[in-house]
Amino acid sequence: MQFLKRYDLLKLRKHFSFSFIKELSQCGMRALFGRILNIPKPMWKLNAARLKGIAVHKILELFFEKSKTVDLYKDLDRALDIIFVQAESDINDEEDRPEEEKTYIRDYIRLNNLYLKGLLTPYLKGFRKDIEIYRDFLLPELSFKKTEIAGHLCTGRIDLGIGPRLVDFKTTSKSNTGPMLQHVYKLQCGMYDLMDELSEKPAHFEHFSVHQIILKKQPEVLEFDFTKEEINTCKPELKHNILQARKLISDQTFVRNYADIFCPCEYIELCRDEKKVEQAVKDLELPESVF
Ligand code: SF4
Repeated sequence: MQFLKRYDLLKLRKHFSFSFIKELSQCGMRALFGRILNIPKPMWKLNAARLKGIAVHKILELFFEKSKTVDLYKDLDRALDIIFVQAESDINDEEDRPEEEKTYIRDYIRLNNLYLKGLLTPYLKGFRKDIEIYRDFLLPELSFKKTEIAGHLCTGRIDLGIGPRLVDFKTTSKSNTGPMLQHVYKLQCGMYDLMDELSEKPAHFEHFSVHQIILKKQPEVLEFDFTKEEINTCKPELKHNILQARKLISDQTFVRNYADIFCPCEYIELCRDEKKVEQAVKDLELPESVF
């Protein structure tokens, strides 16, 4: 029962991100455990897909960061070797990451050197011209810590801003091009665009891309591009989702969604214990000031 007392309402305010809203609709109970009560995920099993995604994101982030000042394309092969070593070292220095996860990510980078080069080399070559044109406007990471949207503080992080283009990387194990997924991508870009508009120094993006990096034996990258107009059409829905999520929390209705594809999740033991959950929700006192 002790760990159920780890309420961190500040976290609730700070993490009202697009993924939090999505998680609330997928399984309210999971969002309650992970995001609101801030209970660390039990090491039920290492989520290999997520850890591979972290490795790829880290490598790309380092690549674009270095591209601001150095021409990595002169010897891309050598540049990637150096970036892989730095990625391992950066992951190692992350204080909050469990050792077991660090080991998995480091091993993944080291053991899949050739695979990662095969995946990333053609992909990164596609950026060469853009980097030459927009080097001064290359933003390898845009993080928004406290942006107010629809009366609530939100957070978020854009993977890459390159001139007027916003790019978000998604790593997956199989390709998915369905209309539902594209709609979710559009909503996510809309959330980033709202955050950008409300930030102190907006980048004013005109084009929005989500790059699906598929980590299968024969890797590939699928690109989904949206115009500003397309993104604007999804904004009323986005605001509606934010307000709905806000209501869900203030009413303290955290619904289990057993039909969700992620069920059961790492919180299965806790989730099965009706009494603990009931008590946790009862004890959850949201201060007036949150809303
Ligand atoms: S076990 Fe299933 S219902 Fe319970 S929190 Fe996890 S995803 Fe939700």
